Amino acid sequence: MSTLSTTRRLFLKRLAGYGAGFALLTASKTSLAESKAALTGIRISQASSNHTRVVFDLSKNVEHNVFALTNPHRIVVDLSQTRKSKALSVGRDSTNLLSGLRSAIRDSGDLRVVFDMKNKVSPRSFALQPDGSSGHRLVVDLNSGSLEPTAIETSEQQRQKRKKEFIIVLDPGHGGRDPGAIGKKGTLEKNITLAVARKMKAIINRTEGYRAVLTRDGDRYIALRNRVAKARELRADLFVSLHADSFRSPNVKGASVYALSLNGASSEAARWIAEKENKSDLIGGISLDDKDDLIASVLLDLSQTATIQDSLELGSDVLKHIGKVSNLNNKIVQQAEFAVLKAPDMPSILIETAFLSNPAEERKLRTSKHQHKIAKAVFAGIKNHLKQRQV
Ligand SMILES: [Zn+2]
Repeated sequence: MSTLSTTRRLFLKRLAGYGAGFALLTASKTSLAESKAALTGIRISQASSNHTRVVFDLSKNVEHNVFALTNPHRIVVDLSQTRKSKALSVGRDSTNLLSGLRSAIRDSGDLRVVFDMKNKVSPRSFALQPDGSSGHRLVVDLNSGSLEPTAIETSEQQRQKRKKEFIIVLDPGHGGRDPGAIGKKGTLEKNITLAVARKMKAIINRTEGYRAVLTRDGDRYIALRNRVAKARELRADLFVSLHADSFRSPNVKGASVYALSLNGASSEAARWIAEKENKSDLIGGISLDDKDDLIASVLLDLSQTATIQDSLELGSDVLKHIGKVSNLNNKIVQQAEFAVLKAPDMPSILIETAFLSNPAEERKLRTSKHQHKIAKAVFAGIKNHLKQRQV
């Protein structure tokens, strides 16, 4: 159900069909498919006298396997297709249970970490997704309290168990010192966008399997980049920015939906690379840090191409539903260089709900009833898009 994985599938499909442009990438095709994770740190703490916790810091989610060996007691952790980052030293370490640890890269490319234990322990492992300042982590708890065998789950089993919510980030345009467009009656765009976003959030959060988060839930100014950053922190599946248009002629009317234009994407790709911002995260788990900037920028463009394609299809579904409750200014999805649409791995659309400069539309936009209709229509469009995707 995740559009992120849809995006990834699309991305790979597109890579396969990229023809001449793709020849440039042949050399890195293997590493692209395998795209090794990096183990950037190991932290060991003694949680209690019979419990030691080991945390592996990883650049992305990895398949893992944990098992015990006896005589002497050891716990083995295999991390699939993982390398140690150069800075990492896995030296001797000691707690009540643990007397040391070492690691080696196996022929398969997996990283094996071996803990030397003082006693018999039951290991238990689980993966943690990025959260605030922490990245991907694998936690291995070593416990000597219980001698009962513990079922060890692989990260894949854990993932299948965890039913993921579909996270939609709603971005009410403008706010605080930036009022956005202003209607003849003095209606401020920033207030309309927030009202529609709040209504949409309520509708989404009543629907099982979905969760909506607002980039702002008050009259606050937020920089455009921070709006996208917030969505990426949440690992959102979709980003929807809400606006109301304005034009010098009061006769112009109707809603529009925008996706990012590719020209905008490519200069932004260069910027993303330059800033090395969450780079291993950028394109759905394909690590960029072992590729040179040219290759990285091509990969990023390809990911963004797939994301834009997904955004265009999403936008088209949303537009169809908005068309049932409102005039349309454009019957097809427009493309432009909006900063809030530039996340390379998250389908993103911007909706101009109507023209505040059109007196009739300004009147409608002020009513709670019409705001609710738009909110409902946008979410119906999103659901419709996702339903087609599941086939
Ligand atoms: Zn706006």
